[in-house]
Amino acid sequence: MIVEMARGIGVEQVDGVVQRAKSLGFQVQLNLGTDKVVVAILGSNTGQVPSDTFAVLPGVESVTRIMKPYKLASREFKAEGSLVSVDGVEIGGKRVVIMAGPCAVESETQLMEAAKAVKESGASVLRGGAFKPRTSPFSFQGLEEKGLELLAQARKRFGIPVVTEVVDPHDVDIVAKSADILQVGTRNMQNFALLTNVGKSKRPVILKRGFSSTVTEWLTAADYLLAEGNNQVILCERGIRTFEDSVRFSLDISSIPVIKKFSHLPLIVDPSHAAGHYSLVPAIARAAVAAGADGLLIEVHPNPKEALVDGLQSLTLSDFARLMDELRAIAKSVGRYI
Ligand code: PEP
Ligand code: MN
Repeated sequence: MIVEMARGIGVEQVDGVVQRAKSLGFQVQLNLGTDKVVVAILGSNTGQVPSDTFAVLPGVESVTRIMKPYKLASREFKAEGSLVSVDGVEIGGKRVVIMAGPCAVESETQLMEAAKAVKESGASVLRGGAFKPRTSPFSFQGLEEKGLELLAQARKRFGIPVVTEVVDPHDVDIVAKSADILQVGTRNMQNFALLTNVGKSKRPVILKRGFSSTVTEWLTAADYLLAEGNNQVILCERGIRTFEDSVRFSLDISSIPVIKKFSHLPLIVDPSHAAGHYSLVPAIARAAVAAGADGLLIEVHPNPKEALVDGLQSLTLSDFARLMDELRAIAKSVGRYI
């Protein structure tokens, strides 16, 4: 249930709603908007309580039931789009934020070369996996702690924030020491223990869409992060499984306007894992910016032929620089910039 308070009411009236909800055994989350306060009343049986229970309280303007399973990620709870701020980089504003770097951190030389080049081309966040969630147990699993150290070094050397994946709920603290943004991968979108810990960390987080998940399931997973009081959530569309096998995953371009309609959370797109092949990445990236994505997450490698992971879908440094020029033109044509 969503309780919208009237404009200009005081803290006592908000507190009245909060206390009423708590006395009924519900949890609450407040959205302190610029012109009004919205209170989300959360619990599995809010449906059994008549909305008048809250409508009669002083300062309440309206009470709405949210029939969708996700509440905190919904536009009903927060009408204006959310901004996530990472080291001065704002995601969800007019600027389309480009995050780029190798799939996995492989060595100091590889990471530093990639970091320098993507920054020079205009990327504002460096990506690189230290813990890799691999489909096969025999594939390279990442440099782990050593990878985190290298990311921290690159961040310091080039003054660029970093995003890296966390796969184990027990590793959230150690990954958060080196990462400005934590990434929850497609295979972990419904790892609820991981989501809860990442939520508790209060770190900016990229929540990738599960490759077999609906938009509703994805937004409901985002509620796990938001319910812990972490409102720095960025969604990432990275393609879903369909019958089509000419690409690695089918990028669901329509999820961009769908998410914008139903959620206030910023949304970026990963064209690399959808494409599966470097030749397809630029077109998908351009389409995502044209369709309203707030950013892109792109795999770039100084020497894709030698990459330990995802070389086939990685752009070379010069291909990335060229793509950035194309993206600037697309962004401009839709009233945004890079
Ligand atoms: C990644 O970004 O490195 C990754 C593993 O992506 P996904 O979880 O989307 O497969
Ligand atoms: Mn990858």
